Amino acid sequence: MNKTQIGNSDLISTVNNRLVLQAVRVMQPTFRAAVARRTGLKPATVTGIVNDLLAQQILSEAPAAIPSGNGELGARWGRPPLMLQVNADAKRIVAIDLEPDRIRVAVTDLLANVLNYQEQAIDRFSEPDVIIKTMLKLAGRAMEDVDRAQLQGVGVSLPGLVDQKAGVLISSTNLPRWRDVPIRDILHKALGVSVQVERSIHLAAIYEKWSDPNHAHRTTLMLTLRTGVGISIMHHGHLLTGRRGFAGEIGHTVVDLNGKPCECGGKGCLETFVSAPAIVARATEMIHQGKCQALVAAMRGKSDLRPELIYKLAKRGDRDCAQIVKEIGKYLGIAIGNMINLFAPDEVVICGSIDMVEALFLQAVREQVEKSALPRSREGLTIRLAREKDRLPLLGAAVLVAEEMFELPSLQHAREVTEDKATVSASQA
Ligand SMILES: [Zn+2]
Repeated sequence: MNKTQIGNSDLISTVNNRLVLQAVRVMQPTFRAAVARRTGLKPATVTGIVNDLLAQQILSEAPAAIPSGNGELGARWGRPPLMLQVNADAKRIVAIDLEPDRIRVAVTDLLANVLNYQEQAIDRFSEPDVIIKTMLKLAGRAMEDVDRAQLQGVGVSLPGLVDQKAGVLISSTNLPRWRDVPIRDILHKALGVSVQVERSIHLAAIYEKWSDPNHAHRTTLMLTLRTGVGISIMHHGHLLTGRRGFAGEIGHTVVDLNGKPCECGGKGCLETFVSAPAIVARATEMIHQGKCQALVAAMRGKSDLRPELIYKLAKRGDRDCAQIVKEIGKYLGIAIGNMINLFAPDEVVICGSIDMVEALFLQAVREQVEKSALPRSREGLTIRLAREKDRLPLLGAAVLVAEEMFELPSLQHAREVTEDKATVSASQA
């Protein structure tokens, strides 16, 4: 019985604590009374929790700003009331984004604001230990200036199938040599800090949710176009991850039964049209046809062709590069149209460096969606680009760690405690 009581009171105090922190984060700067209203907690409870968090320096308090030009009014008010905010400097987080062609590393504060950033190109065909060595070098460099006591943890964004609980990258079509790599434990052992890992597509959605207070009332499809393409579905604040977190492989839905072979072993997958290697292959094909001359000129002296160069030229008005962007928009539009018919979302958010050609790209996607999605399913739908561009998974990796302090304990935890209580009651009866 004691175990149950301890479990319950622990759970309640953790829930209350995080409710308060989350409320301050979303409304800041804000008053204690507003926190009590939003959380439904008694003012005395809020005061107790706030005082604890102030003592731990996780929250800070500052006088409310008096409207400027109101010196007289300010004097009449006397001392301005104190407002609460999260002390973002209380913690530091190291975020790592493993993309198939580069590793990005950032140090952020507790609110996922980037303080320091570095990236390095990698070869996606390298052995895992070669790539991990680069990852550790960048992470070590990032951690040099961070006080260990202040470091909340390391969050890692991974491409491909991830067993989040075990911390293993199971496979990635874009990193062909990675098979069941226990990346979380490897990094934890080498860096000596707590490490969390998650799929990049889910992290993009997690960041979008974190940065938008209205997420709780919407169904959002988040499409990530990087080396590969993936989708995540956020419904009323909950991520639909499927069995073992494997949902979201829109890149391997078939668009053309007679299409080109895909790295997954299938044929005519969406990725054979819109992945970074597919975009580069399409540009190369056009160069061989004597087209894309601006691209040929721009590439002089550069060893590799990246989709970003094509987007840049398309933005400057190059017709052939614009043609490639339109084709990408068309194929993504087909996939998005199918998803709209299945989920009738409120919005579709696209994240990736293709946002360089915003208008051209979105127009092509929208035109295709008009053709592919049923009118009722797309009624009132917004299709837009993510505000944080292709940094979203990196920022999501920081949020993954930050949420240890803000997110309510999982239902699973609550259920275990409740089941515990039911067992105790039954044994007492
Ligand atoms: Zn495939």
